[in-house]
Amino acid sequence: MSDARLIDGQATAARLRQRVAAAVEDLRARRGITPGLAAIIVGDDPASQIYVRSKAKACVAAGLASFEHRLPADASETALAALVEQLNSDERVDGILVQLPLPDRLDPQRVLGAVDPTKDVDGFHPVNIGRLWSRQPSLVPCTPLGCMILLQTMHTNFAGLEAVVLGRSHIVGRPLAALLVAADCTVTIVHSKSRDPQRISRRADILIAALGQPAIVKADWIKPGATVIDVGTNRIVGADGTARLVGDVDYAAARAVAGAITPVPGGVGPMTIACLLQNTIIASCRRRGLPDPDLG
Ligand code: NAP
Repeated sequence: MSDARLIDGQATAARLRQRVAAAVEDLRARRGITPGLAAIIVGDDPASQIYVRSKAKACVAAGLASFEHRLPADASETALAALVEQLNSDERVDGILVQLPLPDRLDPQRVLGAVDPTKDVDGFHPVNIGRLWSRQPSLVPCTPLGCMILLQTMHTNFAGLEAVVLGRSHIVGRPLAALLVAADCTVTIVHSKSRDPQRISRRADILIAALGQPAIVKADWIKPGATVIDVGTNRIVGADGTARLVGDVDYAAARAVAGAITPVPGGVGPMTIACLLQNTIIASCRRRGLPDPDLG
């Protein structure tokens, strides 16, 4: 079989960011509203610092207001809760994101549960999770939403397709399974207690890898012609001491079997931030009783 088609997350994300920027400009010009995103970061984890900085940059580039709140690593849960409460009632703020992971002492479920569900642009609040599974309008977690948008560039009809989701985390695997079921796929979720993930994966017309295990998905896990979305973002250090990012899929081998595949980097990663911007403008409109913006 010839090489798989490349699913270009970079280009798809750039188009989405442009559409968000146009919708933000429209909202500003017609209604005088500038949607705002507030990020809370606790401690000084270097990866989290980079993520928050790039989210803030993307916000500003799309015309959104960006607010950053930094708390020291030893901040109390009470201080964090007070900040969340302050942002819940701040009219300039339409989206609140709490950068994960939090220091071990802090309970992420309790913190995320304190965010106003209408400002929960990460889609992690139990209200939004419940609404997603019951097919009511909700704020959908950004990475799964980005995966669905990439899949829609390859498939116009999902009905009856076998989708296998490798991983059952709250931020990727489970919400993505909900979206695929809603799109009429037949969905199987694989986790660390599943028997024979390779055999299950080979059934998939759509294979999503979200395990956090570098290059674990080999060519013989993939049905010929399948669409493969690689969510994995694993930093590995080579023998020469240089670090690079690899996915959960053995990309070079998988390309020879799959019909279409996302690269790492340049696949799902850029979509996550673009979807965060999308969720922020959607939250801004819904909070004011306005229709969702037309983002194509
Ligand atoms: P996570 O919370 O660690 O969850 C990993 C899941 O994979 C768990 O459900 C675990 O099963 C399952 N698993 C791990 N090893 C397995 C194995 N050998 N066989 C079968 N199942 C296995 O990870 P996550 O937060 O979902 O992230 C997954 C990957 O995506 C990571 O590389 C992360 O960096 C990346 N990611 C990328 C983006 C992006 O924007 N590109 C966003 C989020 C995450 P159990 O539940 O049984 O433990």
